[in-house]
Amino acid sequence: MLQGKSAVITGSTSGIGFGIAKVLARAGANIMLNGFADAATIDACKAEIAGLNVKVAFNPCDVSKADQVEGMIDSTLQALGSVDIMVNNAGIQFVAPVEEFPLAKWDAVLGTNLSAAFYATRKVVPLMKAKGWGRIINIASVQGLVGSLGKAAYVAAKHGLVGLTKVVGLETAGSGVTCNAICPGWVLTPLVQQQIDAIAARDGLDNTAASEKLLSEKQPSLQFVQTEDVGAMALYLCSDAAQQVTGTALSIDGGWAAR
Ligand code: NAD
Repeated sequence: MLQGKSAVITGSTSGIGFGIAKVLARAGANIMLNGFADAATIDACKAEIAGLNVKVAFNPCDVSKADQVEGMIDSTLQALGSVDIMVNNAGIQFVAPVEEFPLAKWDAVLGTNLSAAFYATRKVVPLMKAKGWGRIINIASVQGLVGSLGKAAYVAAKHGLVGLTKVVGLETAGSGVTCNAICPGWVLTPLVQQQIDAIAARDGLDNTAASEKLLSEKQPSLQFVQTEDVGAMALYLCSDAAQQVTGTALSIDGGWAAR
């Protein structure tokens, strides 16, 4: 379905981003990987994607820096020939009450989870419009739709990302380019494992009990979303069937936002 198309996926050396990379590569898309990881992890990610018989490249850019994001898009054009699919996925978390929230952490969370998507979007929209086809997929969160204690920066960034998605959906409507957000609930990745570890340490629980506690507080299914389920939703957004789906936020959260 995506043969001959190329996808840039930020934060794809881990978790949800790598899950999306695998699903899009299985559909034939060439992949630009990105993220902070050691050389062995980067090599393993590249090898797994190359094994799916598509072109793969890696760019180490820090997505919170506009010039580096622009450089990554330019190097994708050189290495893969086009940017047809832009998945803004890289994200970080920091938890503290609002009155204790460190200024530097606020800036880092907003820069990585929100500004990064703006930097990439403003660079790829003209390329996609010129081709008359493009898909911008923003990995927001259920916390782009509802709030959570202690996550002022993350919730603000993810709500902002849903807002950016609406505007870009409006500004590209009818051009062949769509822009949508995916809003996952708990997905078991390193980002969430840190929060499970914090519950385990705080409450003296083992990993299983701490995971159950985390899920039971928010996710009615009491099951984690799988990274490749998020990939499958991204693949749907890349399909012809989704050509009129734009400016919207799709939930994949085990019922979290329905509460
Ligand atoms: P993860 O920690 O497994 O992966 C994050 C990736 O982003 C890594 O590859 C990391 O190196 C990269 N990254 C971080 N800062 C970066 C930067 N400045 N520049 C470039 N790359 C950077 O996390 P994940 O759980 O897979 O999260 C991916 C996205 O999904 C995030 O935006 C997160 O907010 C969102 N999300 C996650 C969950 C969940 O339950 N895991 C739920 C909803 C939304």
